[in-house]
Amino acid sequence: MNTITDALVARLCDRVSASTSDTLSTVEVFTGGTLAKVPRSSPQDVAEAVEAARVAQRAWANVAVADRIAIFERFHALVLEHSEQVLDLLQAETGKSRRDAFLEAASPLVTVGYYARKAPKLLASQRREGMMPLLVKTTELRAPKGVVGIITPWNYPFALAFTDLIPALIAGNAVVLKPDTQTALSTLFGVDLLYQAGLPQGLLRVVLGDGPVVGTAIVDTADYVGFTGSTRTGREIAARAGQRLVGCSLELGGKNPLLILADASLAKAATGAVQTCFSNSGQLCMSPERLFVHTAVYDAFVARFIEEVKRMNLTAAYDFSADMGSLTSRRQLETVSAHVEDAREKGATVLAGGRARPDIGPFFYEPTVLTDVTPEMLCYDSETFGPVVSIYRVADDVEAIARANATMYGLNASIFSKSIPHAESVAAQLNAGTVNINDGHVVGFGSADAPMGGMKDSGLGRRNGAEGLLKYTEAQNVSVQKVPLTTPPRWLPYGLFAKNMRALLRLFRKAGIR
Ligand code: NDP
Repeated sequence: MNTITDALVARLCDRVSASTSDTLSTVEVFTGGTLAKVPRSSPQDVAEAVEAARVAQRAWANVAVADRIAIFERFHALVLEHSEQVLDLLQAETGKSRRDAFLEAASPLVTVGYYARKAPKLLASQRREGMMPLLVKTTELRAPKGVVGIITPWNYPFALAFTDLIPALIAGNAVVLKPDTQTALSTLFGVDLLYQAGLPQGLLRVVLGDGPVVGTAIVDTADYVGFTGSTRTGREIAARAGQRLVGCSLELGGKNPLLILADASLAKAATGAVQTCFSNSGQLCMSPERLFVHTAVYDAFVARFIEEVKRMNLTAAYDFSADMGSLTSRRQLETVSAHVEDAREKGATVLAGGRARPDIGPFFYEPTVLTDVTPEMLCYDSETFGPVVSIYRVADDVEAIARANATMYGLNASIFSKSIPHAESVAAQLNAGTVNINDGHVVGFGSADAPMGGMKDSGLGRRNGAEGLLKYTEAQNVSVQKVPLTTPPRWLPYGLFAKNMRALLRLFRKAGIR
């Protein structure tokens, strides 16, 4: 925390595209006091940022991919060098534990490492099969979209912004970024490091302000939109982008299931469930909120799980002592409290937690475990986005799979089982974009070679993998006809030409050529 000085805040605020002296206040979550005043951008500032980014992008598109990547290699080193400051900022703005901040700060490093290795090949022109062997030459080119708008939430301000903007920039785009105001400094610190690493000035612009004003202005001007946030806002953005016929990718909410199968190791399952359910105080789109436990191991699992939950250490400290930190805002505290009170009033049993802890910090809430949750309760199918999980007893895998899938969401699922083939066969039946076996969410998110994202109301498009890079490009098919193929020579009657072509098509199919 000592590393957040007035000089640092002033330097970071200078990175914001804002023309007036209007400011917005942010809060130091552990105390509730004011942390900083950051500039507020107007729609006019957004329009100017997009235009200026467009100019910078033209030069950037001509920079060799290897030279673009060299900047991100230096950024990787700088993040590690300044990691204490990154963790201080993340904790101050989000209230998360230092352990959660540490994991978050590592995320962009995984993204850099992956795309530094893969992007040169993915972005290079690729020879494709032409319409006719030897007679047609076809090449697929990848051109940047232009200016990509990226809009991110407050729960993972460092990880989510950079996981999206790193591939967008490597693909040759400029970026106009709108982080959530409360957590703007964490994102701006990374932006500042990227400029220190050598990013050309003006290529990455940051605007701050209310989502419906500043975010909308981005959606109305960018050439592609990458959004992470709620399903409600995601729908609005998709509709608006659709009007302009520009693409968008949406990483949205979840009501993620965790399945404890009959053959699970209960020790590993209990520890794993605590780790994933209460990561970032449950303010994590991939965190499970519904636990389906096979009846054969239900009692034993619940006893172990509750024991571990009750042992969790909640502390407002800028060190690694806490198992779980604070919620990020009063709004989150109110939502979480409302979900638990509603469940309690309607007959749920509170096995652990169930209360706010203002004695630790203004927005702390205990890790909470509920049973006897029924469909009329808010927490049954609405996303709580906090440290609240419900446990359900299931008779077998069939019931576990059916109940896990009975949600409008499809972001993440987790399975615990000693038999990998068993767990993999269950995974294939779950409607979730990511399934983690013997882990809650980390291995799926961190395995950057495979795409990650949501089915159903949890999103559109994917981050990570080839898709996470190529979505920021336009594919272009360049085909060369070496001899005329579709018009017969003057001396050949069309009927004979058609007959020969049919014979050729038959031959190609028989030979398996086309
Ligand atoms: P919101 O959708 O309210 O906000 C997300 C971002 O969008 C913020 O920067 C917000 O700005 C901005 N925004 C709000 N309204 C608009 C609009 N009309 N047009 C453009 N931008 C807008 O989500 P929350 O902040 O509440 O974030 C929590 C939600 O995000 C949860 O539901 C969670 O599941 C989801 N999430 C999903 C993740 C994933 O990867 N799938 C990861 C993390 C979170 P402002 O705050 O200024 O209004």
